Amino acid sequence: MKIICIGRNYAEHAKELNNPVPSEPLFFIKPDSAILRNNDDFYLPDFSNDVHYEAEIFVKLHKKGKNILEKFAPNYYAEIGIGIDITARDIQQKCKEKGLPWEKAKGFDGSAPVSKTLPLSEFEDVNTINFELHINGAVVQKGFTGDMIFNVNQIIAEASRYFMVKIGDLVFTGTPAGVGKLNAGDHLEAFIEGRKMMDFRIK
Ligand code: ZN
Repeated sequence: MKIICIGRNYAEHAKELNNPVPSEPLFFIKPDSAILRNNDDFYLPDFSNDVHYEAEIFVKLHKKGKNILEKFAPNYYAEIGIGIDITARDIQQKCKEKGLPWEKAKGFDGSAPVSKTLPLSEFEDVNTINFELHINGAVVQKGFTGDMIFNVNQIIAEASRYFMVKIGDLVFTGTPAGVGKLNAGDHLEAFIEGRKMMDFRIK
């Protein structure tokens, strides 16, 4: 499986990193080795001094497809979860300056802690989901999927023009404002509509 991620999908987050709001989606992929499950600890890597959290809603795909039309995209997912797109911001900055790919900054081992999934049928609409990330008990990110620049169906439609989607793939939908640095000892808790989905620690 793979994780398809979209960058700069919330205007306020694009602004906080001084990036332009995109007119077309910016995609990158994390490999399956990036996945961290079961509230396992995340170990800060030795190659970065500025590792950031980015809380993101994801959908899990249950059907293989390519060139999926936006109107048919809802047939490809039925479960939702929350994950952290962990980013080595210092490495990403260097890559951006040099026009290099982002894999070292975004796709390293353990860079995608994910929650279990919930059936979307438990929610009214994938486009009206509230989510939060708490660190050491304080709210650091508060997101609403209705604020996304490209919605879930648009992301799947556009991404599947380039990347065939397969059963079990995850689509991360971008992070709202409030990203910041992770420190050893931090306690992260992620919530979807007030339901605690993840609870893990940074080592
Ligand atoms: Zn992200």
